[in-house]
Amino acid sequence: MVGASTVQTTTAIMYGTKQFGIIQDFIKGLEDYMESKGYSTISQMRGLTLSQIKAWDTVDRDSRYLSQVDPEKCTGCQLCTNWCFFDAISMVEKKAVIDPHKCDGCGLCPSLCPKDAITMDEPGQKYLGNFR
Ligand code: SF4
Ligand code: SF4
Repeated sequence: MVGASTVQTTTAIMYGTKQFGIIQDFIKGLEDYMESKGYSTISQMRGLTLSQIKAWDTVDRDSRYLSQVDPEKCTGCQLCTNWCFFDAISMVEKKAVIDPHKCDGCGLCPSLCPKDAITMDEPGQKYLGNFR
C-alpha cells in the first residue's frame, strides 16, 4: 500500500516459532484481506497510502499503542523477552510483563506470541492511517 513491488521479512522468520512457515500465514492473511475489501489484484492496492505518509518531525510521539499481556493466556515460554529491542519485557512469576515506560509500541511481540497472549491497548487516539 506504500508502493512497494516486493516485500522482505526477517525478524518474524528468525524469532517466530513457525520460521518460514509464517510466510503461509502472510499469504493467507493477504488473501483474506483482499477478499474482505474487494481487491482482486495487488496493483489495485499498491500506493493507496502514499498520500498519508508523514514527515518524521510531524509524527505524534506523545501517545502510542502499548502492548499488554493476558496472564491467562501466557504460558511463560519466555520467547518474547528476546524479541523486544527496547528491553520492555520481563518475566514475573513465570508470566511476561511489559513495562509501559519502555514499550515503544512497535507491535512485534503481539504479532509473534504463539499463544496470542499479547495485544495492543489504546492509551490515546493515534492516527495510523486509513487502510480501507
Ligand atoms: S507472552 Fe507469549 S511469548 Fe511471551 S512468555 Fe507469554 S506465551 Fe510466551
Ligand atoms: S510492542 Fe515492541 S516495544 Fe512494545 S514490548 Fe512489544 S516488542 Fe517491545
